[in-house]
Amino acid sequence: MTDCLFCKMVSGDITPDTVYEDDQVLAFRDLNPQAPLHVLVIPKQHVSTLNDLNDSNEQLAGHLLAVAAKIAAQEGYADSGYRTVMNCNADGGQTVFHPHLHLFAGRKMQWPAG
Ligand code: AMP
Ligand code: ZN
Repeated sequence: MTDCLFCKMVSGDITPDTVYEDDQVLAFRDLNPQAPLHVLVIPKQHVSTLNDLNDSNEQLAGHLLAVAAKIAAQEGYADSGYRTVMNCNADGGQTVFHPHLHLFAGRKMQWPAG
């Protein structure tokens, strides 16, 4: 998708602050961090929302979580804890329509989420 911000990061047209990459996913620091650690983990394949992660690619959803856990551990937050969030569509607060798993750590999170 040429007009997708996150696809431009996958293609290299925009250079993110990358913390992890493999053949399926890219992870980079959020431009507007909401916690001391705020990383976005995205699939390299373009789809729009979590609604598009279905039976045909559910392994990818699991991989996004596994990568988030790996990054949290690498950054030293495995024991203190962290939060993962994937926003979907308007009520979920999604603003970039390429799925991305938020990883937050380094402060006490509020519950319930706002
Ligand atoms: P969401 O609101 O769940 O769609 O999250 C989109 C996230 O993308 C927000 O946390 C933004 O701060 C982040 N974001 C937008 N543009 C960039 C960028 N160029 N580099 C890194 N993160 C970005
Ligand atoms: Zn995209």
